[in-house]
Amino acid sequence: MKFHEMEINQVEKVLDTDFSSGLSPEAVKKRVAQHGLNELQEGEKQSALLLFFSQFKDFMVLVLLAATLLSGLLGEYIDAIAIIAIVIINGFLGFFQERRAERSLQALKELSAPQVSVLREGQWVKIPSKEIVPGDIIKFSSGDRIGADVRIIESRSLEIEESALTGESVPVSKHIDPLKTINPGIGDMENIAFMGTMITRGSGVGVVIGTGMKTAMGQIADLLQNAQTQETPLQRRLEQLGKILITVALLLTVLVVAIGVLQGHELYTMFLAGVSLAVAAIPEGLPAIVTVALSLGVQKMIKKNAIVRKLPAVETLGCASVICSDKTGTMTQNKMTVTHLWSGGNTWTVDGVGYQPRGDFYRGDTRVHPKDEKALQQMLIFGMICNHSELKIKDEDYILDGDPTEGALLVSAMKAGLDRTNLLDEFTIIKEFPFDSARKMMSMHVKDKQGRNFIVTKGAPDVIIGKSESILWDGKTQYLGQSVQNQVQEAINNLASKALRTIAIAFKPIPANTVILSEQEAENKLTFIGVQGMIDPPRPEVKDAVKECKEAGIKTVMITGDHVITAKAIAAQLGILTNKSKVLDGNALSNMSVPELEEIVDDVSVFARVSPEHKLKIVKALQNRGHIVAMTGDGVNDAPAIKAADIGVAMGITGTDVAKEASSLVLLDDNFATIKSAIEEGRNIYENIRKFVRYLLASNVGEILVMLFAMILALPLPLVPIQILWVNLVTDGLPAMALGLDRPEEDVMKRKPRSPNEGVFSRGLGWKVVSRGFLIGIVTLLAFMIVYKQNPENLQYAQTIAFATLVLAQLIHVFDCRSEKSVLSRNPFGNIYLVWAVVSSLALMIAVIYYPPFQPIFHTLPILAKDWLLIIGLSSIPTFLLAGTFLLRKTK
Ligand code: ATP
Repeated sequence: MKFHEMEINQVEKVLDTDFSSGLSPEAVKKRVAQHGLNELQEGEKQSALLLFFSQFKDFMVLVLLAATLLSGLLGEYIDAIAIIAIVIINGFLGFFQERRAERSLQALKELSAPQVSVLREGQWVKIPSKEIVPGDIIKFSSGDRIGADVRIIESRSLEIEESALTGESVPVSKHIDPLKTINPGIGDMENIAFMGTMITRGSGVGVVIGTGMKTAMGQIADLLQNAQTQETPLQRRLEQLGKILITVALLLTVLVVAIGVLQGHELYTMFLAGVSLAVAAIPEGLPAIVTVALSLGVQKMIKKNAIVRKLPAVETLGCASVICSDKTGTMTQNKMTVTHLWSGGNTWTVDGVGYQPRGDFYRGDTRVHPKDEKALQQMLIFGMICNHSELKIKDEDYILDGDPTEGALLVSAMKAGLDRTNLLDEFTIIKEFPFDSARKMMSMHVKDKQGRNFIVTKGAPDVIIGKSESILWDGKTQYLGQSVQNQVQEAINNLASKALRTIAIAFKPIPANTVILSEQEAENKLTFIGVQGMIDPPRPEVKDAVKECKEAGIKTVMITGDHVITAKAIAAQLGILTNKSKVLDGNALSNMSVPELEEIVDDVSVFARVSPEHKLKIVKALQNRGHIVAMTGDGVNDAPAIKAADIGVAMGITGTDVAKEASSLVLLDDNFATIKSAIEEGRNIYENIRKFVRYLLASNVGEILVMLFAMILALPLPLVPIQILWVNLVTDGLPAMALGLDRPEEDVMKRKPRSPNEGVFSRGLGWKVVSRGFLIGIVTLLAFMIVYKQNPENLQYAQTIAFATLVLAQLIHVFDCRSEKSVLSRNPFGNIYLVWAVVSSLALMIAVIYYPPFQPIFHTLPILAKDWLLIIGLSSIPTFLLAGTFLLRKTK
């Protein structure tokens, strides 16, 4: 017998599990050994060896190796061995950089992998989907993607979209009864939920019957999507730029070689020098360093609770000009406590802290017992029945499992001494119409012990009023006329203006044995009972984050399903709503076209009572106004807006799988302030990339120019090939990496957002590269010329001087690269990695110059103390001359 043909208790027996407590750790261990992890097999990965060899496939590196081989054959053993050693070390460096980048991307993928709620030893716990085994009991609800093949054992209006498997996009209703059909197709298995399919409505519980490759999904392995490597816009631009730079570097190299040969240098010497120069000048390491910088930044973001799912987002983050954020849970703590209740003209207050089910009720200053207040008692009872949350005690603390809004209603009822288990003895739930944020309500069809049937509804008060025809007032059901409606509305506004989130409770008696099919049928002609108002305090860090965003030229917009007045009150507390900004509600939004919204969208700071569909409209209007928009969301219906936004942000805790899949950033703590931190980090990563692009390119320009000018001036080679390669490896490599780890400049969150169309060399970077590079080239050449003219016999000494000047000029310039302004505007020792990189580069340079065994390899001679003055003086010029002009400009 197959699982879909069995009754659920048979499934329980066959799978040797327990629906009420789940599997034990021992059983899980055994089953993992037996069935393996719940993973689909992915394509082969590139092996480490292949990755290592791929470092040498670059054309110029191959030419260099060939040339080196040639020089080896011609008897220049030391040169040949040294060059090959440097090329290999360079290869290792590239290999480790790429490996590191790959690993951290892999780690990222794992972090954003789906989690599943599973019942283990009687407790619902969240575990990575790959750890579930056959026999596990898992629960799921709207927006989740199913992690394995499961037989449904509980269904609450469960509907699943199975297009990933069947191609059919219309959701299928799922139930728990055995199927009678023989050999049903996947689309007909109404009591099975398949791995990879998505819940569109309702919720349910199932027992795992197949995992990994033994699922319907596993059988169609070619459907597997291999994660594509993503490039950021900057990486793409740098790649294009790289091609241009390679051409320019090659042309200049050819020029150097040609002029050199014309000036009488040996062809072979010039060839080797030219190839070394090309290898040094071509920024082949740039893409790898950029990837490392991006992935290091991404790791820093993880520490701040932000997970980047799509690498390009790291850059886009720095361009964000508007953040549209949900209120509940993102700007507020999502820890709801009912403090006020209203019904039929009476207001009660209730005290107590958080989810602790202890507190007293008061009418005015008089303590009352809800049992004696009929309407109050009724409101509390129905709020507790129409509810899925559970309160658990852990380490003497009350922990809520479920929706905080419902938790607040549960706790307010518990404070009145009510107990959900007892209530469910009295009222049997017949059918449920789950909450969705477009309807803003949920309802249950219940039957009491006397056989009376009711619809119990709870939801947004303004919506429920529209669905009510009567109201409970002074213990009697009265017609809900306009004047009473006005009174109710006033009471709701009164609660909302205290920043309280309001939930109305209503009901209607229905004839016994009625079958209610749709929510439209259930949710009309209701009798309004009253409203519970709950506080949801703002998260303390949000106010400052909003302020910092403002200073950074980023506008914060609150988008909420909550009441307009509640939203306004909280937005004002957080500094989002100012005198000038407007509030727009869902109704007004519905009646507006995108172009109409565009007209006013810049002035709106709060959108209230919106449905998820409205979010897309808001994103489009803002984008049409030229904004780069970050938009948060958690539900299934939020996914289109998250996808359309420039930076889609999903909630890590409350977010559904669908929202997370659509997003490029996931907030592990659901906190608005985390978006701000991610933006800050995004800006910093971009600035750091600019820093080392500037450093590397200026160094390369300097290296090429010193050679070019020397050839034009008919001088001997100022640097020998091995020295050029050494500079490329040590002086360029280490400090550039350290710049990638630099801290942001103080004003990074005081600048306006960057334009996404900004080129690599914008904001004066191109000029900085050329001017610094030019000066580095010139001073190196000067140092060489001065010493060479003094003693033309000792070329090797003059070359050593040129080498030291080039290295030192670059190592001084690297500090200038830390700031967009000037070397003097930051503490030069503020980046400890850079200090170490520079110190070690210096130490290596000293070793190469003074350690006798190195001297023949690197063609160096010990530099005399007096010449250091010349070297230090000249090498400071490029950086300090320009810092001086900066100061001059500033004082003018
Ligand atoms: P945000 O978009 O800021 O997260 P929100 O959480 O308030 O806003 P929704 O969850 O869409 O937005 O809720 C909209 C309204 O629906 C709430 O103001 C409340 O009145 C009502 N509501 C929320 N949760 C429930 C629920 N579980 N049952 C019934 N009504 C609810």
